[in-house]
Amino acid sequence: MYNTFAFLFGLLIGSFLNVCIFRIPRKENITTTRSHCTSCGNVIKWYDLVPVISYLLLGGKCRNCKSKISVQYPLIEILNGSLYLLIAGVMGINIKSVLMMALTSALIVIAVIDWRTYEIPFGLNVFITVLGLINLFFDRTNWLLYVVGAVCVSGFLLILYAATKGRGIGGGDIKLMAAAGLFLGWKNCILAFIIGCVLGSVIHLIRMKVSKQDHVLAFGPYLAAGIFIAGIWGDMIVNAYISSFTV
Ligand SMILES: [Zn+2]
Repeated sequence: MYNTFAFLFGLLIGSFLNVCIFRIPRKENITTTRSHCTSCGNVIKWYDLVPVISYLLLGGKCRNCKSKISVQYPLIEILNGSLYLLIAGVMGINIKSVLMMALTSALIVIAVIDWRTYEIPFGLNVFITVLGLINLFFDRTNWLLYVVGAVCVSGFLLILYAATKGRGIGGGDIKLMAAAGLFLGWKNCILAFIIGCVLGSVIHLIRMKVSKQDHVLAFGPYLAAGIFIAGIWGDMIVNAYISSFTV
């Protein structure tokens, strides 16, 4: 029952994420302007804004001008819905899991925008920082875990940034790891970074092999995946790792 609700709520938020993904890089307002077709500018009616279902009913085309609607729209909705379902299944419904859902949605937007533009919008890192502060408030006794989390990986990356004069890593990646570190705490933040590096290098190498050309590496999507995995399974992974030394 709760899980179905989490999934449907995720679909709905997913449809808002599409708006963010399209408008944030163009510096358009994400809240006041009504949804409109990106080809003909026609304002989309409420009954054509039902996640996934509208896309299927319209056959992936604008009702007004019949131009193609990107398959990205239903995919992002389904992805966000499925991840909410996964979070609810693993963590239940509580303050931490609701914050985790909000974090996940921000990570999806960051991943897609960084993949396309090689930039992580500052406002999204501010949003994650706010989530981290709310989480810190509810888990005050462990404040040091989170404060160290905010600086451990980001501090290391800042040194790397200075040493390579900004060629090794992007400023947006550093701010992302600071914001995510505040949310995750230092153990899970380091884990998130390791997962991001492994995923990034493996997938990047495969892409270069397949296409036989150089790609500029957008690190954001891999860091986002690492942060997500560490966010839901981090404590389990870290504890299993520590206990493997203490048998
Ligand atoms: Zn149209």
